[in-house]
Amino acid sequence: MSVLPDSILKIRQVGERCLRSPARPVAPKDLSSAEIQALIEMMRETMRDAPGVGLAAPQVGVDLRIAVIEDRAEYQRDLTPDRLADRGREPVPFHVLINPTLTVTDPTPQRHFEGCLSVAGYTAVTPRAAAVQVNALNEKGESLEIRTGGWYARILQHEIDHLSGRLYLDTMLPSTFMTSANFQRYWAACPTEEVCRVLGAVPH
Ligand code: ZN
Repeated sequence: MSVLPDSILKIRQVGERCLRSPARPVAPKDLSSAEIQALIEMMRETMRDAPGVGLAAPQVGVDLRIAVIEDRAEYQRDLTPDRLADRGREPVPFHVLINPTLTVTDPTPQRHFEGCLSVAGYTAVTPRAAAVQVNALNEKGESLEIRTGGWYARILQHEIDHLSGRLYLDTMLPSTFMTSANFQRYWAACPTEEVCRVLGAVPH
């Protein structure tokens, strides 16, 4: 199937109501509809165009419990092996989550900088649980269960939060909030715990 230019959806920015409203479950009978299947394709193309590692339907103004995730190897090539290992970050193939539920399986807080396509141009240290289990349907209506840790667990927590109207701003360490440009300029080479100490962030 060819992808038309209008497959790229507008990513809504913080302050828009759709980002703070809980999304509705997708009815299983609607999952195979042309509308839902087209939405999933457009979300995939919008995520790749941004580019981002995840996108939830409320971010494109749709109040349905749908998220897409993909962490490509090419997004990771500028990170050193040490930093990839520190974050537990490995490539994740494209997949779709319909009506996901998330259970924390290891609550140990992992503190890393995180950003969001709906808070464009900013980043902050955001504690996330070390490991989670997610149960969902895929785009074909098949059940899937994901048990994972590291960066993938962070992406899952971030995207599933969107489906409840939550943003990383709600759980970040506020004194580490900064522009992405300043992160690159001043802090990118600094261990996260050191950034927190220097900026006076209180861990939680
Ligand atoms: Zn986001």
